[in-house]
This record gives sequence, C-alpha cells and structure tokens, in this order.
Amino acid sequence: MIEAPPTVYAELDVQALVFNAKVARSHAPQAKLMAVIKADAYGHGMIPVAQSLTDEADAFAVARVEEGVVLRESGCRQRIIVLEGFNGSEQLALCRKHRLETIVHCREQLNWLSAAQPGVPVTVWIKLDTGMNRLGFRLQSLAEVVRQLLSLDTVARPLHLMTHLACADESENAMTGQQLRVFELAKMLADGETCIANSAGLLAWPEAQSDWIRPGIMLYGISPFAGKTGVELGLKPVMKLYSRIIAIKPVYPGETVGYGGDWRCRQTTRLGVVAMGYGDGYPRQIAKDTPVMIGESQMPIIGRVSMDMLTVDLTSCDEAKVGDQVLLWGDHRLPVEIIATAANTIPYTLVCGITRRVKRVVVNEC
Ligand SMILES: *Cc1c(COP(=O)(O)O)cnc(C)c1O
Repeated sequence: MIEAPPTVYAELDVQALVFNAKVARSHAPQAKLMAVIKADAYGHGMIPVAQSLTDEADAFAVARVEEGVVLRESGCRQRIIVLEGFNGSEQLALCRKHRLETIVHCREQLNWLSAAQPGVPVTVWIKLDTGMNRLGFRLQSLAEVVRQLLSLDTVARPLHLMTHLACADESENAMTGQQLRVFELAKMLADGETCIANSAGLLAWPEAQSDWIRPGIMLYGISPFAGKTGVELGLKPVMKLYSRIIAIKPVYPGETVGYGGDWRCRQTTRLGVVAMGYGDGYPRQIAKDTPVMIGESQMPIIGRVSMDMLTVDLTSCDEAKVGDQVLLWGDHRLPVEIIATAANTIPYTLVCGITRRVKRVVVNEC
C-alpha cells in the first residue's frame, strides 16, 4: 500500500490540551473538572481528546446519549455526564447500561424514569433554569421535582444540581448575578454536588464557582470572550489547520479570479491555489484579504472560497512553491479567533465545522 501525507489535516496538540486543562483547574483549585467534549470535542476528535485528558478530568460532559455511548465504548472509565439528558425510555436504558449520568430537565423525563424497570439506578443532575430559558426546571417547581426523584428506586442518591449561565461572557451583564442568586436558593433543596460555570463563567465570575467547573472552549485554547484571544488569556491553541499550495500561476491585469469573477487583477499577480474550502469547514463568508500563513509570511486570500480550494496572493512571497505547507489557523500569530471575526462568526463554529474529510493528526503526546 502506498501511503502519502494528507494534503489537509487538523493537528491536535495534546500538550496544549493538558496545559489548558491545568489553567482551568488553576482558576478553581478546589473544584472538580468536568471537561466538555461534546460535538466531537468541538471538532478536535472526542476520543483522542478524552484519552489525552484522562489524568486531568474528573468527568467528561457530552451533549447526547449517543456521544456518551461512543465515549464509554472507547474505554473511557471516568464519569460521563449527558448535558441534554435522555429523550425516551430507550435512551434511559442506554444511560443505565453504560453508566452515563443524565441531566433531568423536564417532566417527561420523570415519567420515563418512573416507568423504568428496576435495576441499576441512574445518577441524576437536576437542571435548574435560572434564566437561560433553554433546559431546566424553574425554582418554583424544584422541590416537587426533588420529591418525585427521591421516590424512585431507579434514581441514585444524592441528587446533583446544575445550571447554565446565559451571559457569562459579558462581564458587565447583570443576568449572571441574578442567575447565581436563584441557584443559591436552589442549593438548599438538593443534597448532591453542584455545577455552574462554563469557560466564561470560570474565567470572569469567581462567584460562579461550585463543586464542579464545566469548561469546554478554553480547553481547546480558545477564548469565550469577543475581542480576546485564548493566547491573551494564557491558553495554548490546540488545533492547527493545515493544507498545501497545489498550483501557482500568474494572472494579468484585467483578469478575474474564481467564481463570480469577484476579484479583479490590477497588476500582474502571482496566484497560489490552496487545497482548502468550505467542504473542509473553512468559512466561505471570510472577509477579503484575510491571511493564511506560508512559512513565516502572512499572505491574503483573494477571490471567493470554493468547496475545495481558495486562492491567495503570493506576489510578495517569491520563495513560495507548489507543495508548501499553508496554515489556515492555530498559530499564535493567526489564532482561530481572528479568523472567526473575519468570518463574522465565533470560533466555536469554526472548530466544530471542520468536516470529516479533514484528517485529525495527534501530536505531542505525553
Ligand atoms: C457547551 C456547554 C458548556 C461548555 O461551554 P464553553 O463555553 O465551551 O465553556 C457547558 N455547559 C453546557 C450546558 C454546555 O452546553
């Protein structure tokens, strides 16, 4: 069999991941760490990320039961918490079979729990809606929910309590204080562990600390705050997205480049074609002149991003040649936050949006 290095790949730096987890811990030294690895660890690859964080994380959080099953079957022995909880009796059975801890956020789940066959009790985190208005019970119904859960043999004791902050990334927003006050009242009603803070909550709201912290994005070295990069927060980028130059050609004044003839040539230009497009997850709506890195130089993208390729102006980069490596994001000089701003989105969507054809390559294993 002939093996060739992949043209396009996302490099996953295990040392950076472990470093960021330690940074998260240092912000809440007393708390236990629930590492959020939903959505394929924000596009980084759930299983390698979980394996790399085995010594750092006290538990892992995923969104869906299906994700939890895959994680458990990969050999993960930590606690696994399903943030959306089970949806239906079959999913509840899967939680029990695979020892997945579940969020309980709605009445229907109470019914499925009370209809369940006797057997292994499931560990429950009650989701309290303190103002996000996504999942969870309101404070007024909490006492009744606790009473019902405690009446069920299928539910393990104690009952844990969780909430989610809606505006923790805005340091001036009064919403967070209100949410924390509601949670404080709720704590008296459940006797288990508590968990509030996502990355922004952990970094910006010391009063949001509780028994557990629940960061996601910062583990990947990415900032949860607009206008700030992970590097500025003392984090290390985990993902580097790479491709190569696959063609170089001159274009002449008056000619255009790419779909729609969007970019028009004014002076003779050395054009580089890079194997990277929205079919890999690179944002099509990227702003004009956003750079890529070739060696130490930053070269601007020109013309429209297509499915498999984009084009760059190499006029000022004589040494660039076909086959050269191109970095799309991940270097401290070209962090994903900058690309997200240029694409009018948040970095979460970019890393989550890396598609399956992009090979994940794990480096710097400890
Ligand atoms: C995704 C998610 C997190 C992690 O949030 P980050 O902003 O990535 O730190 C925490 N809690 C819940 C409920 C989530 O859905």
